[in-house]
Amino acid sequence: MSVAENLRQIEQRICEACERSGRRREDVTLIAVSKTKPVSMIQEAMDQGIVDFGENKPQELRDKYEVLPKDLHWHMIGNLQRNKVKYVVGRAVMIHSLGSLELAEAIEKDAARKNLVMPCLVEVNMAGEESKGGIAPGQAEEFVRTVSAFEHIQIHGFMTIAPFVDDPELNRVHFRGLRNLAVDIGRKNIDNVMVNELSMGMTGDFEVAIEEGATLVRVGTGIFGERNYSL
Ligand SMILES: *Cc1c(COP(=O)(O)O)cnc(C)c1O
Repeated sequence: MSVAENLRQIEQRICEACERSGRRREDVTLIAVSKTKPVSMIQEAMDQGIVDFGENKPQELRDKYEVLPKDLHWHMIGNLQRNKVKYVVGRAVMIHSLGSLELAEAIEKDAARKNLVMPCLVEVNMAGEESKGGIAPGQAEEFVRTVSAFEHIQIHGFMTIAPFVDDPELNRVHFRGLRNLAVDIGRKNIDNVMVNELSMGMTGDFEVAIEEGATLVRVGTGIFGERNYSL
């Protein structure tokens, strides 16, 4: 199926999830996760009005940023190594994967050098999966407080990558948990910290995530088809 047709279906499902949960469509942003996919497919999505794109490799984000119109919004959603922060800061509108103090320090340093403030989401490992990065839920508040002192990072909220499951209902507990954590930390009114964004939900579970309060959903396969990593 074409990118345009896939987008129509995803859009329909987003609208229905918003309706079910009494939310407004404009409060949910669809991020088209274009990792491994060619620029031509990104242009097909742009033709349908998509402006937010997600990448998980710093150099790939940089390369696509350089060749595409500058008014697109690039989201860094993947594991980010300190020495690759420089490709992302100044190009991405948001880093979703802030999950360690070392990374925060590297972002702070590069953003200071570039004289800008980098919007970030704190990645929380809700399911406690060893294979995944992110802060444990119980350490999130302390982490947020520490990073709030960094002048060139602005925290905007939280992100989680839920486990890969067949039944998306199984991830509802993790999405609800992230939302509760965000509400709790938001109530503390920590200086220099905003808790407006919840980045959660992928192709397999974005509807449940929207029902639980996602403001940013990250959909790749559902828009661009399966990825081929053997290329
Ligand atoms: C690849 C990726 C996605 C998109 O996954 P799909 O299942 O293809 O929708 C979302 N979030 C992150 C962090 C990813 O790496």
